[in-house]
Amino acid sequence: MTNTYVYAIGDTLYINLTNECSNVCEFCVRAMRDDYEGYDLWLEKEPTAEEVLAAIPQGDFAQVVFCGYGEPTCRFDVLKRVATALKGRYRLRLNTNGQGSLINGRDITGEVALLFDEVNVSMNASDAVKYDDICHSRFGKAAFGAMLEFGKSCAKKGVKTHFSVVDCIGEEEVEACRVLAFQSRVLFKVRKFIT
Ligand code: SF4
Repeated sequence: MTNTYVYAIGDTLYINLTNECSNVCEFCVRAMRDDYEGYDLWLEKEPTAEEVLAAIPQGDFAQVVFCGYGEPTCRFDVLKRVATALKGRYRLRLNTNGQGSLINGRDITGEVALLFDEVNVSMNASDAVKYDDICHSRFGKAAFGAMLEFGKSCAKKGVKTHFSVVDCIGEEEVEACRVLAFQSRVLFKVRKFIT
């Protein structure tokens, strides 16, 4: 099988570094091992930074997004090397579950802020219990607070930061998350649930 390290959708290039994630979300396409937009994103081998950079096609892209099947900050060293090589050529966005500082055992938001123009943090729920019910983080209930701090810290450091939720969590919960994002001084967006 082919390992898809980069893939393009429209004018955006996506980077897929890992299958690994600290969460096991109920709605994750990764858990179902489904194709995404026609791409098989399951990796038999995780890439080096050089392999990712070699796989990037020629062309103009409006932005490069680190997301992939798994959580990109699980491979933070590779992520940083790729982002450093691309910085200045493209607008860079990180899509993350916001647990990168827990995953790496230190606050990584300073390094993220130096490299990325935009960060999207999946909020998914309005409190730690609901978050744990949906996301089943290996960090348990500590994951929710760490996720909030991650988003707040990126925003404070000047990165355009959004908290996001998937619309399948229900209107009431979406509104509770919107309020929490507002109180955290972080932008907010609702994403469509991908079936
Ligand atoms: S955080 Fe993202 S990659 Fe990880 S399990 Fe949830 S939806 Fe999947």
